[in-house]
Amino acid sequence: MTPFASNIINTPISEKQKRILLFNVNQPLELLIEEFDKEWWPLVSNIWTSFSCKNNVNGDLWKVFVCRFKKHNKSSTRKEDIPNEKCHITKIRPADLCSAKIKVQRYFSEQKVRIERFKDSPDHSHPIEDSKKLKRSEVVRELVMQEAVKNYRPPEIVSAVKEIATETLDLGECVKELRRKEVTNIKYKVRGPLDTHLVGDPKRELDIRKAISFLKNRGYLVERYEIPDLSTYGFVFMHPNHLKNLEQHGWLSLIDSTHKTNRYDYRLFTLYIRNSYGC
Ligand SMILES: [Zn+2]
Repeated sequence: MTPFASNIINTPISEKQKRILLFNVNQPLELLIEEFDKEWWPLVSNIWTSFSCKNNVNGDLWKVFVCRFKKHNKSSTRKEDIPNEKCHITKIRPADLCSAKIKVQRYFSEQKVRIERFKDSPDHSHPIEDSKKLKRSEVVRELVMQEAVKNYRPPEIVSAVKEIATETLDLGECVKELRRKEVTNIKYKVRGPLDTHLVGDPKRELDIRKAISFLKNRGYLVERYEIPDLSTYGFVFMHPNHLKNLEQHGWLSLIDSTHKTNRYDYRLFTLYIRNSYGC
């Protein structure tokens, strides 16, 4: 039998359908390697974990994956002599909850992948949604990372990811229970290396002072303020000409705020008045 006799998928299908096809693999599937690696596997990487693999002499490769619910080793238990506060809380997952397996064969000369049920592997003993309780799929992690890089706050990242996953990827159920805590952790992993130099860094104070003297040199009036109860601080700057305008036309003042104006996540509030030139 040639490995690519049937089942090459030509019609576009949704991400959700792809996940289902790679969950309980009822019929062998054949895909292009590139397509499989980029568009299919990231959707199910939370379901499967590597079990065994074999390289053939001709460079072809096959790998067996087992459901993540099947754990080879029982979780380690606590060592007696470690003081309590140093112990991490480990969730002990019962082993052998599910024994579903798939076999993924790569044929390099054809640039194709064949995915099939491994030998007489059973179906999963649980619904597909349970797999995400163990681990998020790469595609969801990828989405969170994409948003986290922009340095939004975790609640905003959660809603952005939910929106994209639901509306454009048809993966709503994969993100239904995405929590702020999980996003915060991912964000820390992504942003941590970028932000650590800011934490407690005296350079921030230096930056503020430099900005203030820059403005003062250009004739601006600058005042620093701090409201410790609200952990709010910043500085106000205004040119004397603007101040005159405000005094004369301030009967209608508008205020607007812009965020992400610098790496410290300061907001810039701007006051507007309407004078003879307009706004
Ligand atoms: Zn399973």
